[in-house]
This record gives sequence, C-alpha cells and structure tokens, in this order.
Amino acid sequence: MRRLTAPIVLALSLALAACSAAPAREVQTVSAQAAPQGPPRLIVAVSIDQFSADTYAQYRARYSGGLARFNQGVVFPSGYQSHSATETCPGHSTLLTGVHPARNGIIANSWFEPDGPRGDQPIYCAEDVTDPASSARNPVVSARHLKVPTLGELMKSADPDTRNVAVSAKDRAVMMMGGHRIDAAWWWKGGAFVSHKGVAPTPAVQAVNAKAAATIKSGAPALPIPAWCAPADEAVPVGKTTLGTGRFVLEPGKESAFRISPRMDTATVDLAIALVDEMGLGQGKAPDVLSVSLSATDYVGHATGVAGAEMCILQNQLDQDLGRLFAHLDAKGIDYMVVLSADHGGLDMPERMDRQAYPGAERVDMALAPDNLSKAVAKATGLSVEGPLVFGDAPMGDLYISRKLAPKDREKAVAALLTILRAHPHVAAAYSAAELAATPLPTGNPQDWSLRDRARASFHPGRSGDVVLQLDRAITPIPEPYPGAYVATHGSAFDYDRRVPILFWRRGIRPFEQPQPVDTVDIAPTLAAILGLKVRDGTFDGRCLDLDGGAGNTCGN
Ligand SMILES: [Zn+2]
Repeated sequence: MRRLTAPIVLALSLALAACSAAPAREVQTVSAQAAPQGPPRLIVAVSIDQFSADTYAQYRARYSGGLARFNQGVVFPSGYQSHSATETCPGHSTLLTGVHPARNGIIANSWFEPDGPRGDQPIYCAEDVTDPASSARNPVVSARHLKVPTLGELMKSADPDTRNVAVSAKDRAVMMMGGHRIDAAWWWKGGAFVSHKGVAPTPAVQAVNAKAAATIKSGAPALPIPAWCAPADEAVPVGKTTLGTGRFVLEPGKESAFRISPRMDTATVDLAIALVDEMGLGQGKAPDVLSVSLSATDYVGHATGVAGAEMCILQNQLDQDLGRLFAHLDAKGIDYMVVLSADHGGLDMPERMDRQAYPGAERVDMALAPDNLSKAVAKATGLSVEGPLVFGDAPMGDLYISRKLAPKDREKAVAALLTILRAHPHVAAAYSAAELAATPLPTGNPQDWSLRDRARASFHPGRSGDVVLQLDRAITPIPEPYPGAYVATHGSAFDYDRRVPILFWRRGIRPFEQPQPVDTVDIAPTLAAILGLKVRDGTFDGRCLDLDGGAGNTCGN
C-alpha cells in the first residue's frame, strides 16, 4: 500500500446484480500429462498483493480457474513474509531475491535517511534519489535501492539470452520482482501502462492500453457475484456509509474505480498475455522470467476490507483471469513453471471484525501519530527543535529523531520515546536502532520468531528508524476510515500480515502439500536449483525447497 495523506471518497455502487454466473470449470487433466525433461523454458512468478494465507484458505474450495490448478501442484499453505514491516515493497523484494529486507535494503514502502541529502523528507523504495527530478511523491522509478540481484538478473548473468519481464499496476512491484536489469517493465500510471522515461509502448502495450481506456471511458456494469458470496454480502456501517455489498459498477471516466476493482487485474493479465506473444517468452534460446504482480486484491482490501462481497467477487474474477493466463501458455505448448505467492497478508476492517467475534480490533490512537509523539517527547524531555522532533510516515514502523538535536539530546529523545510507546496499550513492542543492531539475524522457523526477531529481519542501518514501533495485534494504523479508499490495511508483525501461500505448478509435477512453515526467501533458491543456476554461496538467505514429493530431489542432491 501507499499511505494516503488526503481523504479520497469514492461513490460505492450499491446496485444489486441478480446474476450469479457459475464459472466454467477448468479441465483438471493438465498436470496428468508427462513431465517435461530439463529446466522449464519460462518462470511465471505471480504475486497477488495482500493475498493472505487466510484469504487463500477461505476461498480455496471455491476456485475453479487458475487458482484451482495449484491443487494439482505443490502447496505450502504457511509461507512467511517473515519480517516485521509487512508492506508491498519489502514483500516484493523477498520474492525473487531470496533475501530478507535486512540485507536487501528494502525496509519499507518509504523511509527517511535523516543524515543524507533528503534530510527529513521521505524516500520512496522504488525511486532514483540521484535524479533531481525524483521525489517520493512523484518518483523517477528505479530499483537502485535494492541491494541484491533478482532471479531474472542471476539468470541473465548466466545466459544473456534470458529475458526478464515484469508487469503490475504498481511500479514498486515491477522494480522489486524484476530488479535492475529488466527487458520489459510496465506499470500503471494515470490510466495506462507506462515504463521508464523514453520507453515507448510497444504495439502489444498500446493494444492493452486502448482496451483499458475504452472501458474507463464507457464505464461498465456490475460484476457477477457467485452464489457462494451470499454470506459475505452484508452492509457494515463504516464512517458515514456502509461497505460489504459493492458490485464494482464502473461510472464512465472513473479511472480510480477501474483501478480499485478486479478490472485492474484483468488488464494486467491481458498485458502479460500480450507480452508472451509479442516477445515470444518461453520460446527463446534461454529460459525467461515473467513476473506478474496483481494489485487489485490489495486495492480492494484497503478500500472495503477483506471479508465483504467485494473481496468475494474479486477472488472469483482473479481466479478466472489467472485461468486465462495459464490456458494461453498451455495452448502455446510452453513448458512453464509457476510460483504464486504474495507480498504480505492483511487484516479486515475493525468495524466488521467487531461484528464477527473479534471485538478487540480497534483503530489506532492518534496519540501514536508522529506529530503527537513529537509533542509528547518534547514535553517529557524539555527538548525543542525547529520542525518535528519525531518524524515518520505512519503511527507504526520506523520513527526518526530530528538531526537538529545534538547526539546526546537525541539519545535522550530516543529513551523518552521508547518509554512513551512501551506504556501505550496499542503498542506490542518498541525497539531502538541500537537494540536491533545488537540482535542476531533470526534463523529457523519463522512462525516461532520473537517480535524482536521479526523487527530485526526488517532492520537495515542507515534506513531504519531510530525507533521501531510494532502495534499490538488487530490495531489498524488508520485512525479514521475513508470508505471506498482506505479502511483496512497490513504492515504489522503478526501472522495475519506475515503468512501467505506459496504455490508451485508445472506440467507433470507430483502434487503434495506441506503445512510446515516455509519462507518467501526460499522461492528464489528453489527456482535457481530447478533451473540449474550456479550461484555463489551466501547469495540467498533462504533454502531450496525440494519440490519432488517422491524419491527425487529438485534441489540437486
Ligand atoms: Zn502490497
């Protein structure tokens, strides 16, 4: 997510659609065909933004399209984005690098480097700060902040004929999955897929953009709601309106309503398919990588929560869109391997959790907003500076102390801030940078890591805050809801935000399910072994997962 600084109110359509078309069932015989020999010709890496293990579990029995295919694949229902700052940029940074944010440098969606040239102005995770035209708000998109290579880059180093392609609605998802050397990188901006400055849309991109533009211009009717969504279809009061019964009617000209809907995923999948054809992906001299990050689950989760009719309709559409992508690759006879995971999970909005047997969910106390923490620290210490004494971009995560204070006074401010935070009932834990720097990098089962271990996996000196704040379980860091735009979120150190499915499928793969926890940093070493890539020891933080459920071993030993 990108935190919103101004309320955006969308007119939510409450129109009732009577149709509940059942999706056509995908033929389930694809896996049964003979297993191909040697490495796959195409890696398809799918990230579903904000696809928690809980959402996967809730809808798994309902999938009949692309998501059903993994029932004939290898299922790790307890994958972990094991770090503490469960945001989009860090989450995407682990998927194809095999490295935790502590080492890859992507600690959050945005951070501050108070000792650097930006001072107390934010830095976006996917911007080129060396370009004077770039700002956090209007970034020149780049992977410069990512300190390690992605799988696609490692493959290109081994064989320059490999094409490394990434598409998403979000620029940061493209940069973190693709990395520094991408052959085609497309993200959504202002109603069209765009790329780096000077890169003109190819005919395939132009065609997808034209189709999306026509839909936005004309508007579109409600999306079908499957009969099995009925229990979720209930209006829940939030702010001055209700959520839970939306149908995604698209008013003509409303680009944001197109983006915050399953139609954004449909367009992204259209683009992935068009690039497969235009570039001949999976049919070249070397294996290629196609990264597809689908953002609508996240946009809709933020706008309406994760448990209403809106999310149910979205899951149905997403399943069909992924089915379309896989059917296209099947029809072309491409030997591809899919991995599907997510950048983080998510939590429903507190207003619905309150009704659904979890009254402990609350919106965060404004006292934890950086401005108010500034005042509280000033009062406790008698210190004062021009500008904010404490800054950060949310009532959670990384908090920074003004560099206008002398080092000794800064220490005093850190101590006071820790005392204030640790006494607050909405706070699970708070650490100083010195405490985290002194904590060893965690290893072993991510389910059992302490809160401090989780914070350590997100800690990178020079980027992380002087103090790191972890909110308590089910405290939503949105003090006031903006229905239709921003009511629910993720970002916590708890498993509803950390736990994501990790799913693999390739034609002929022998299906199995392993419920023990694994980590998203295990994906890159697993694929590297299957591709026969030689990488230096210490490249990955994760381990190779043996995807041969029988006597064989895809990890090569
Ligand atoms: Zn995300």
